[in-house]
Amino acid sequence: MFIAHLPAGYLATHFLAGEKQNRQSLVAVGLTCSALPDFDLLWFYLVDDRQTAHHEYIFHWPLFWLSIALIAWIVARLSNRRALGPYILVGLTCLLLHMFLDSFAAEIYWLRPFSDWHLNLVEVPAGFGWWVLNFVFHWTFAAEILICLAAGFVWWRRKSLRPSST
Ligand SMILES: [Zn+2]
Repeated sequence: MFIAHLPAGYLATHFLAGEKQNRQSLVAVGLTCSALPDFDLLWFYLVDDRQTAHHEYIFHWPLFWLSIALIAWIVARLSNRRALGPYILVGLTCLLLHMFLDSFAAEIYWLRPFSDWHLNLVEVPAGFGWWVLNFVFHWTFAAEILICLAAGFVWWRRKSLRPSST
C-alpha cells in the first residue's frame, strides 16, 4: 500500500473516537500509528542497503505491536491511568490496520517470531520496468484511491459541520 495508510487510519480513528472530548489527540495518535510501521524504510534505505524486504522487519510484525500494546495496557492499569486505554486501542487498531492493508500485494508475517507463515492476499504481476508502476496500474491502487476519497469526504463533512474539529 502506497498512499492510503493515513486516510485509512483517519477513518478507523473517526469511528473509534466518535465525538469524544479528546477526539483531536486520538486522531493524532491514530494517524501516527497508521504510518509508524513504514518508518522502517529508514533502516531499509540507510542501514540495510535494501537487502531485506522492509515488510520483514519487526516494525511490520503484528505480534510485536500486540506485545507493545499489552505492555502499555498493563502499565496503564497498574499506574491507574485508565484514560490511556482509548489511546492504546486506537494506536493498536491503526497499527494492525496498516499490516492488514499491507497484506494486499505484500507479504506480512502475522505470526513472527513464532512462524514464517505470511499472508499476501493479492499478487501484483511485474509488467513494468519501474516497480512503482506495477502497483499504480494494479486494481488495488483504485481501492487505495477510494479509501483516500472516503477519508477526504468524512473530514470535509465534519469540517463543514464543525469548523474547529478534526
Ligand atoms: Zn507498511
